[in-house]
Amino acid sequence: MARVRLENITKRYGEETAVDGISLEVEDGEFVTFVGPSGCGKSTTMETVAGLTQPSEGDVYIGDDKVTKLAPKDRGVAMVFQNIALFPHMDVYENISFGLRLRKYDDEEVRRRVEQAADIVQLEGMLDRMPAEMSGGQQQRVGIARAIVRNPDVFLMDEPLANLDAKLRVHMRTELQRLHRELNATIIYVTHDQAEAMTMSNRIAVLNDGKLQQIAPPLVCYNEP
Ligand code: ADP
Ligand code: ADP
Repeated sequence: MARVRLENITKRYGEETAVDGISLEVEDGEFVTFVGPSGCGKSTTMETVAGLTQPSEGDVYIGDDKVTKLAPKDRGVAMVFQNIALFPHMDVYENISFGLRLRKYDDEEVRRRVEQAADIVQLEGMLDRMPAEMSGGQQQRVGIARAIVRNPDVFLMDEPLANLDAKLRVHMRTELQRLHRELNATIIYVTHDQAEAMTMSNRIAVLNDGKLQQIAPPLVCYNEP
């Protein structure tokens, strides 16, 4: 795991400034959530950490390395998105192991990593299921397991629960908290769900109009309505 540092990140699209001079540091093992209104720059900021977007100005550091110019695959990050996009013709094992098999890890190592990841997201016993046979929450957990097997330094999660129904979302919050604890993972998380931000984060970063308005631990004890 590793810390992440954003140094004065700005991203412009033509005349529009999507991210406007954001600096922040996420500690090793910390869970930081970006919140703020739609269009405030949450996803774009995340994408600069992932390497999916090049900042117009500023630098991104992961651990001690400046990664601003590195390709996504060389950054030690794994992403989980709102749209999980499992391969429909592959079972759970094949979906989780796809990247490892491409990289030609030997079969035993692949199996070991897949079983460990499936265990963490509580999908043991479901490795031979097809995606169509699974609930949304189970599919989302396959998506998370696919990120875990990569053994990343940093998890980047952009609205990973947005497509789930309310009850599952609450359940998955607990699962993500457990994941954070068990893996001691550094997690940067984007959501517009206040309850998610309040219950899971070590600190919440509030973005507005491309700027970091404040970053602080959740202050109140959040009770489910
Ligand atoms: P959020 O994730 O908070 O909803 P985004 O980071 O997606 O916000 O977007 C921030 C701003 O940048 C928005 O105004 C959006 O329209 C703009 N933007 C994002 N991606 C692009 C792009 N590829 N091209 C042009 N404008 C973009
Ligand atoms: P590799 O990382 O060795 O290229 P993969 O098949 O795992 O092999 O990934 C293929 C491409 O997709 C790579 O560029 C990788 O960085 C990217 N990728 C796949 N899954 C993820 C993920 N969960 N998070 C981030 N990048 C991913």
